[in-house]
Amino acid sequence: MKNSHVTVLEIDCNAIAHNVAYFKSKLKKETRLAVVVKAFGYGSDAIAIAKFLETKNVDYFAVAYAKEGIALREAGIKSKILVLHPQMINFEQIIQYNLEPTIYNFSVLEAFEKTASEQKIEKYPVHLKINTGLNRLGFTHHEIEELSKRLPKNPFLKITSIFSHLAASEDHAEREFTLRQIKKFKKDADFLSNLLEEKPFYHILNTSGILNYVEEAQFGMVRLGIGLHGFGNIEEETEKLKNVNTLKSVISQISYVEEGKTIGYNRAFTTSEKTKYATIPVGHADGISRQLKNGRGFVKIHRQMAPIIGNVCMDMIMVNITGIECKEGDEVVVFDSQTTIDYFAREIGTIPYEILTAISQRVERVLIPEKK
Ligand SMILES: *Cc1c(COP(=O)(O)O)cnc(C)c1O
Repeated sequence: MKNSHVTVLEIDCNAIAHNVAYFKSKLKKETRLAVVVKAFGYGSDAIAIAKFLETKNVDYFAVAYAKEGIALREAGIKSKILVLHPQMINFEQIIQYNLEPTIYNFSVLEAFEKTASEQKIEKYPVHLKINTGLNRLGFTHHEIEELSKRLPKNPFLKITSIFSHLAASEDHAEREFTLRQIKKFKKDADFLSNLLEEKPFYHILNTSGILNYVEEAQFGMVRLGIGLHGFGNIEEETEKLKNVNTLKSVISQISYVEEGKTIGYNRAFTTSEKTKYATIPVGHADGISRQLKNGRGFVKIHRQMAPIIGNVCMDMIMVNITGIECKEGDEVVVFDSQTTIDYFAREIGTIPYEILTAISQRVERVLIPEKK
């Protein structure tokens, strides 16, 4: 039987479709949508998500690295693919696989021109990244003039878009800063665009950007990442979205110990009463943080909370099921809602992005198809 007795990550296409439709409803009809599927599609399954979304009018997929774009191409994805953070060493492959690189500084510009000219390629689509305050990647305001001199007469490249990335789009306290970023971006982008014969489109909004700045800055495209997975980065928005990723496992073994015994590595948990507990085949190598030990994390068995006891092992956890009616082989839910993912994130001082991307490749992915 398929997928019985293993840990699986279920990916719900109904939820993906709902979330895409929700974000699209905020956009003008002509605004392009890029779905960011970097890091294995935020820890889910980039290929499965991209294949599904090719039926939903998505204009671009965005990945961080060339390798991620190549994997999509090899799986048969035909849509445009934007590589957000390409490395020079991959430029030949980028062209070979028809990926569209971000040009984020002068050395990248020169190196890509060189590769394109060697291959006698003209008007290769590239995307210019401007740094407007995140201070991570991109041309700074002071470099725009120099950049402007080197672009218009360049036959090898076609500046398809100009973009930037917001530093705090989810944070209402940083609204002024964000509006300044948007203003700077528009100014620099307009300056470059005015010199170009074929006008590039612009984009600056990520998920929270779409939710908070769609009036000010939707431009020609938006880049949707965590929102696709049901997270709006504030509760009121997350509530309107559907959870995509469900991590499930199974009870491998049920055991009993008397009061005063210890369970697991380093004897991290001592029983205070006769304890019935279950061993579950999911551990820190699957993405369950070791910090969720000893009651900080839990699973649900027949909808009842079973706290993790002792340390999280590489391949297993033990959970307290005293008082829960269950048997070996029963289903275990690690998370099946944004609320639980948020809870785990808070508990270990991180954000849902990290909880999701931590789900390792060892966990089998199962796609739940869209109900028509
Ligand atoms: C990851 C990323 C995104 C997506 O961000 P979300 O907050 O997940 O929507 C958009 N743009 C860039 C440049 C990114 O690196």
